This record gives sequence, structure tokens and C-alpha cells, in this order.
Amino acid sequence: MNDRFYAYQCQICDELHYPRHYLCRRCGGESFNTILITGECELLTWTRLHNLPEGFHQPYLTFGIVRYPNGLRVSGHLKVKNPQIGMKLNTTVGQIRTRDNNIELGFIFTEIIEE
Ligand SMILES: [Zn+2]
Repeated sequence: MNDRFYAYQCQICDELHYPRHYLCRRCGGESFNTILITGECELLTWTRLHNLPEGFHQPYLTFGIVRYPNGLRVSGHLKVKNPQIGMKLNTTVGQIRTRDNNIELGFIFTEIIEE
């Protein structure tokens, strides 16, 4: 399992942590339940980066911070034509970069197409 795709919820006080902490930042607890980060989230803010370092096979990158219904905030790539703050997004995991023949995986948030 890849730590990067899980939130860590303190077993004592329920505080959510991401990325992983070894001590709860609220109560100092040392035991956590892992929660897969998935499902629908809301776009809080976004930015577009140009001049990307080696390994990104695209001219620019759209990067955003999202919030889940449980309050967890996570950053990742956006695969969205016209990002709007407050829009609902889906969580996917995909290849974000290749470096030294290694594929790096990360969150990619995608548009929810309304029927
Ligand atoms: Zn705690």
C-alpha cells in the first residue's frame, strides 16, 4: 500500500492527518486508522505552473487543493478544462511524472460530468 493515498485518523481523538504523521498533532496519540482518500471533493484553490522540470510530458500543469466532506485537504493535479473554485471533483490516482524510468503516481482530480 502506498502511504500517499491514505489519510490517518487518530484512534483517540479522530483528528485526520495527511500526509502521515507519527504522532497525532492534536493529542499526541500514536495509533491511527487508515482511510483511503477517494470520492467526491471540492476545489478550494488552483494554479497553473509553466516551466516544468524534466519528466513532465506536458506544456503546463494545473495544480489544485481540494477538500473532502470529512474536512481533509489534499493537493494534486487537476484534469479540468476550466477550473472553478467550489466545483465538485472526482478523485483518481494516475501517473504524474516519469523520472529515471520510474513512474510517480499522484492524485489527479477530474471533472464530474453532470448527466
Ligand atoms: Zn489524536
